[in-house]
Amino acid sequence: MERIRSQLFYKKALEVIPGGVNSPVRACKAVKADPVFFERGEGAYLIDVDGNRYIDYVCSWGPLILGHAHPEVIAGVYFASKRGTSFGAPTWQEVELAELIKNAVPSIEKIRLVNSGTEATMSAIRLARAYTNRKKIIKFEGCYHGHVDALLVKAGSGLATFGIPASPGVPEELTAHTLNLPFNDFEKVKEVFEKFGEEIAAVIVEPVPANMGVIPPKEGFLKFLREITQQYGSLLIFDEVITGFRLGVGGAQEAYGVIPDLTCLGKIIGGGLPVGAYGGKAEIMNLVAPEGPVYQAGTLSGNPIAVAAGLATLKELLKPGTYERLNLMAELLEKGIREALEDLDLNYRLHRVGSMLTLFFTEKEVIDFETALSCDTHLFAEFWQRMLEKGVYLPPSQFEAWFVSLAHKEKEIEKTVEAVYKVLKKLR
Ligand code: PLP
Repeated sequence: MERIRSQLFYKKALEVIPGGVNSPVRACKAVKADPVFFERGEGAYLIDVDGNRYIDYVCSWGPLILGHAHPEVIAGVYFASKRGTSFGAPTWQEVELAELIKNAVPSIEKIRLVNSGTEATMSAIRLARAYTNRKKIIKFEGCYHGHVDALLVKAGSGLATFGIPASPGVPEELTAHTLNLPFNDFEKVKEVFEKFGEEIAAVIVEPVPANMGVIPPKEGFLKFLREITQQYGSLLIFDEVITGFRLGVGGAQEAYGVIPDLTCLGKIIGGGLPVGAYGGKAEIMNLVAPEGPVYQAGTLSGNPIAVAAGLATLKELLKPGTYERLNLMAELLEKGIREALEDLDLNYRLHRVGSMLTLFFTEKEVIDFETALSCDTHLFAEFWQRMLEKGVYLPPSQFEAWFVSLAHKEKEIEKTVEAVYKVLKKLR
């Protein structure tokens, strides 16, 4: 496959954009490749600027659960944009989207729309601190909650990594109240609550982490987080920016039957346009300005075009049988890859939760960030490059989820499985 135009654009991009990309992981450094520049998307496919076609499992990092350029989303965007791009004043469509989300997501009584997942988690943390009048927060290593200063804490081993910035530019003072613990570790959470319980404003967690590869919570872990936060008067925040409307309309909270105090959403609820949201109990949400004193605002929040894309997406998802179809395709993909692994006598770990999956290039059990790091990332890089050559575009990092969309059908799954088999055979 030739990617001459991609290479030219990348060269130009490097001159004007840091790293040539507007979000780091797009640079494909982790897979030792140059980024592919895309021209358009069609259903399950991406077409690059050189005319190459790929089956896409990045799906814009999760939002495109209907696939690329879904006609209902395009129509929503088209008609909304004809009415104007932004009013900086309320529209009834925002209320419709808020109601739809409230009716779908068990924890949400009131919701505020923002422009990204990062804004959602940042605002939820601020709100939790204001509500509890406490400062400390617990997050888990390998869980990503956007580039909020306080949440950019280095994922390290040990009981709690206090105030070590993961990024230069984040002063220690801003992460001094962030306690960083291993995911799925009941004991560490208990220890930290015993020590600091009265000071902990909230636990924030991806209920099914997808940012260190997909790692399901251990049996009872989410319920345990619910109970211990209640015991100490701390809030439980589910970051469902990925899992919201992906594991079902009620997200992970519905799937696992654990209801948090606050929920952060993004990605799918914007249908591929920039939207985020945070919501929860009315008693807590009523603290947000102008109802309450906790300040949070946005020039483009509730943008009519983004809201239209979100509404069109969620309405499609609410149709009967949607998630059964979606999960069936993901199940087929899982089954095909498992058979390939077995056939080739490989013991790599494959995790699937609903329509997200990760093939970990390790034989060790993967339960948290540290165990995820046991993967052979060099081998993954080679796998990724060879899959690209076979016309399959995977997330360019070992520690990401592959997303199946409703546009992926048997044909695409079969082609993907065949490519996986051939590539793994070569790499063996
Ligand atoms: N939370 C989770 C779980 C995410 O995966 C992401 C982004 O990937 C975010 C928050 C941040 O969202 P955004 O990139 O829209 O700021």
